[in-house]
Amino acid sequence: MAAFKTLDDVDVAGKRVLVRVDLNVPMDGGQVSDDTRLRAIQPTLNELAQKGAKTILLAHFGRPKGKRDESQSLKVVVPALEKTLMQDVAFADDCVGEAAEAAVAKLTPGDVLLLENTRFHAGEEANDPDFAAALAKLGDLYVNDAFSAAHRAHASTEGIARLLPAFAGRSMQAELEALTKALSDPERPVVAVVGGAKVSSKLDLLGNLVERVDFLVIGGGMANTFLAAQGLDVGKSLCERDLLETATEIVAKAKAAGCAIVLPVDARVAKEFRANAENRVAAVDDVGADEMILDIGPKAIAEVAAVFAQAKTLVWNGPFGAFELTPFDAGTVAAAKTAAELTEAGKLLSVAGGGDTVAALNHAGVADQFSYVSTAGGAFLEWLEGKDLPGVAALTATK
Ligand code: ADP
Ligand code: MG
Repeated sequence: MAAFKTLDDVDVAGKRVLVRVDLNVPMDGGQVSDDTRLRAIQPTLNELAQKGAKTILLAHFGRPKGKRDESQSLKVVVPALEKTLMQDVAFADDCVGEAAEAAVAKLTPGDVLLLENTRFHAGEEANDPDFAAALAKLGDLYVNDAFSAAHRAHASTEGIARLLPAFAGRSMQAELEALTKALSDPERPVVAVVGGAKVSSKLDLLGNLVERVDFLVIGGGMANTFLAAQGLDVGKSLCERDLLETATEIVAKAKAAGCAIVLPVDARVAKEFRANAENRVAAVDDVGADEMILDIGPKAIAEVAAVFAQAKTLVWNGPFGAFELTPFDAGTVAAAKTAAELTEAGKLLSVAGGGDTVAALNHAGVADQFSYVSTAGGAFLEWLEGKDLPGVAALTATK
């Protein structure tokens, strides 16, 4: 990855700094119900205020489809943002034009201004050059602290970065550094865990990882498709029968690339998909026609732990089983705890991401012990798939 500039490379005092942030926070009854995303941008915003920048926040909220829609106004986020930042936050009810320009003109060093939802303008998602220029006009510098939006080439994530001196915020910087250490320039051996429901949703991911990692541990529902491809009967398990050939091709590609594929040798099976369903441990060649695999079994758990113990770097996306249903969370929880212990002991760099993966690590109570947990969802997956993220590419382009 080409080098990107950070807040260490610029003097922001007295400057108008446009900062792209992720304020797409969950709301409940008009209140922000989870402030994780606000806490993620706090270091950047506090640092800018402390250094005397005039901070102007750009963000999208919901999907207003390019038109003003008061129900998707960012104004509701202001109180929670003020609380997190421990300072007043001004609000302008448009992100370009007179309202925005007047609000920016009022700023003094250390102030923070939030501009209305960028997606109230069709030019945002279209990455329209005129709209990007109207945004850029409001500032002297651009900082992107929204890795989670970096897989979209929108005006506030990509277009604007090509018009102003552009820098990565602290949260963006941490994400890029963690992902680079994990996959672009890792300490070997590298183990990747890919789990979750379906092979079909993670084909690009599997294809990219087999070329880059030393061990690919496949868990979750998607392991069933690989087991079936080997001719095993997986009973009523979630299985994509139309992808058996694809699974075989992935295994062949892995072999050619020197990547060892680790599939479960045993499983926890049940006849019903529900919490506390009657269940048993079965070898993968002993699954009944009326049974389904809902988690990896104890032998597989031990094998995963042994693979982790040999590795220096772990990249993890997707749970090992239906972790929302006890006791089928056992494989995911055990693997998460093993990775957390190895990380705490300084033996492993562990990076994880994905909506359900983050939920599973929180459920296991070990998210804080991982080296890095990405909450970026789609952007994290596209990175693992080896795709160029437009928002990141624009930051690293030479200007
Ligand atoms: P992420 O959001 O982290 O990318 P996914 O969405 O791909 O993860 O996968 C998570 C889902 O996979 C969970 O809802 C989980 O219940 C499901 N899952 C995992 N293993 C199984 C299984 N053996 N059978 C059915 N569903 C499973
Ligand atoms: Mg998911």
